[in-house]
Amino acid sequence: MARAFIGFGGNIGDTRQLITDAIICLAQRRELQILAKSCFYQSAPVDAAGGDYINSVIEIETQLSPYGLLHVCQAVEQEFGRERPYANAPRTLDLDILAFEGISQNEVELTLPHPRIIERSFVLLPLLEIAPDFFLPNIGKLQAYLPKVAHQRIEKLPCRNCSCIEKDVSTQVAH
Ligand code: AMP
Repeated sequence: MARAFIGFGGNIGDTRQLITDAIICLAQRRELQILAKSCFYQSAPVDAAGGDYINSVIEIETQLSPYGLLHVCQAVEQEFGRERPYANAPRTLDLDILAFEGISQNEVELTLPHPRIIERSFVLLPLLEIAPDFFLPNIGKLQAYLPKVAHQRIEKLPCRNCSCIEKDVSTQVAH
C-alpha cells in the first residue's frame, strides 16, 4: 500500500459540492482508501482565468500504481465535466497528484512530487492542515515554504462539522 496526496480545485459552479461528490466517488473505489480530508479553502486564481477557486486536499492509501491513480483522477475529472478549451481555462474540477509515497519522477504525463507543490498557498495550506510535518526528500519540511506564499490570497472556509479551526496552520499567512 502506498500513501498519496491529491489536490482538488475548481472555479465553476458549486465547487464545494463537486469536490465532495468527487471524494465520495473516489471513496467508492476498492483500490483506495481515504485517510484524511482538509477543509475547503477559497483562493485567488494564480496563472489562471476566472473567479476565485475552491481547493481541498486528501490523503489516501492505495494499491494503485502512480499511473493507475492518475488515470482514476482523470476519469473523475471527466465524470465531473472538466473541459480544457485552452491552457489554464476556468475549470469545474481539477485533480492533481501532489505526492505519491517516495516516488520522484519527471515525466510529462506524471511529475512527482507535483512541480508546484511548494509554490502555491492553495496546495500548501490544505496539505499542511492534514499533514503538518510533511517532508519531501530534496525539498525538506513543507512548513518552511509558507512564508514564500504568504502574499497569495487565500481564506480557510469554516467547516460545517468539525472544530479544525483550532489547529489552523493558515492563520499565519491567510489574508
Ligand atoms: P492540468 O490541465 O493542469 O490539470 O494538467 C493536466 C496534465 O498534467 C495531464 O496531462 C497530466 O498527465 C499532467 N500531469 C503531470 N504531472 C501530474 C500530476 N502530478 N498530477 C496530475 N496531472 C499531472
